[in-house]
Amino acid sequence: MDHLCPVCNGLASLSQACQRCGTLLADAGRLYDYYGDYSPYREIDDAKLDNGYPDRRNHQCLHTGWCSFCQAEQTVAVQEWTPDKLFYE
Ligand SMILES: [Zn+2]
Ligand SMILES: [Zn+2]
Repeated sequence: MDHLCPVCNGLASLSQACQRCGTLLADAGRLYDYYGDYSPYREIDDAKLDNGYPDRRNHQCLHTGWCSFCQAEQTVAVQEWTPDKLFYE
């Protein structure tokens, strides 16, 4: 294992504030989990994913954050950890 996402592995919680109101977003799960789960309104988001969002080549794990204040989802790119970080931090 090269890199791992601290959020997926329960080592850290999602800590991203809403871009609009600053409320701490709740982790609504991995965006990748939605892949293959066909639903019409998701199709648009998935298309965007192929096209501009950072992905695993950048060692980022895409999560969906939920702002309870705005009632809106936001994509959060979590920087994945290297084994070095795990051992020395
Ligand atoms: Zn993750
Ligand atoms: Zn918000």
